Amino acid sequence: MTDPRRAVPRTDALLADPRIAKAAEPLGRDLVKSVVTAAQQRVREGLLTPEAIVDDVLAHLPGHATSLRPVVNATGVVVHTNLGRAPLSRAAVDAVAAAAGATDVEFDLTTGRRARRGRGALAALADEVPAAGGVHVVNNNAAALLLCALALAPGREIVVSRGELVEIGDGFRIPDLLASTGARLREVGTTNRTHLADYAGAIGPGTGFVLKVHPSNYRVTGFTAEASVADLAGLGVPLVVDIGSGLLAPHPLLPDEPDAATVLAQGAHLVTASGDKLLGGPQAGLLLGDAALVERLRRHPAARALRVDKLTLAALEATLRGPLPPVREALRIPLPELRGRADELCATLRAAGVAAEVVESAAAVGGGGAPGVELPSVAVSLPAHYGEALRAGQPPVVGRVVRDRCLLDLRTVPPGDDATIAAAVRRCG
Ligand SMILES: *Cc1c(COP(=O)(O)O)cnc(C)c1O
Repeated sequence: MTDPRRAVPRTDALLADPRIAKAAEPLGRDLVKSVVTAAQQRVREGLLTPEAIVDDVLAHLPGHATSLRPVVNATGVVVHTNLGRAPLSRAAVDAVAAAAGATDVEFDLTTGRRARRGRGALAALADEVPAAGGVHVVNNNAAALLLCALALAPGREIVVSRGELVEIGDGFRIPDLLASTGARLREVGTTNRTHLADYAGAIGPGTGFVLKVHPSNYRVTGFTAEASVADLAGLGVPLVVDIGSGLLAPHPLLPDEPDAATVLAQGAHLVTASGDKLLGGPQAGLLLGDAALVERLRRHPAARALRVDKLTLAALEATLRGPLPPVREALRIPLPELRGRADELCATLRAAGVAAEVVESAAAVGGGGAPGVELPSVAVSLPAHYGEALRAGQPPVVGRVVRDRCLLDLRTVPPGDDATIAAAVRRCG
């Protein structure tokens, strides 16, 4: 008997194979070697013939040197936290690539001296919200709140309504985040009703600021009351408003979603928001408002630990200055357009023998905001077993399994990806 291991092609021979060597250039030798090792193991186990090993290695090489894989979001959830929230616009992706090498992020090419870091992105943000006297960008909205607590309420109290003690997701809670800075939370009111007098009664010399948090992933309905931003702004202490989703101006389809410009016009001293929710940009925490307060935040030692990198600054500026990002396109796209695409996709699939149907669907903004708002949409409905098969495909397509059907909601699919979906479904055949 010949030893089957004798038949396993050697690692150096495989790495020298011209097709594998070419693929190794952009990926790096170590990564390719690990794929080669796995293929050799399959030969040893008799799962693969030695002749097929090169094709197998090529088939298993990732497209990029990262384990993060691009997926098609057909869930109908526009801002899908588990799928990386906002997909960047083409302009933002290009900006990231342009800034990836050496770049003048903190350098003035005219004078040859140090310049304000990320001034282009900051200017773009300031231009979008003229009511903001100052702007600053940190790692995410949680970081923005952390910085507010550290800079404005060290050893002091943050006054907040019991109806706004929000868990953001994955067990993270805003009250715990704030308390971790050493600031004390002064809860006022009740879960469903908090009045201006509740805040007024809690304010004193130990108050750092009043915090108003937008309930972005839940709704309190029924017998409810809350104090307005305008009222809270007049209490004589700084008012910080966490609007959550990151709309900079009102959005016609989301009338209940707060926006930075309006909240500042109502008197808020500082607004905090996420960059990768309804703004449609990179993960970032946006701070806008009173120039002196923003400067205090910027000057706090912790600001350095919360600052964003050049890639974020590049993507943020391009999102603000460039064309409508995918999140905003997904909100805007008219129903008949979605229906036309769904009809076409469905016809293609049925011609290939797939039991596909077009059905009405309700898309959602997602954890990013506007809880309870349904966006009318259209989906291609497939037998449920496609759900798992499509997730295992290349690229993975993530749909929504509802009872015995797998729904591919087109509101969150960029129009250019319909053909990708058709091919993915056919491969599951
Ligand atoms: C999402 C959200 C946060 C957290 O924002 P990140 O950018 O994820 O850190 C905080 N507050 C509200 C109201 C939110 O909606």
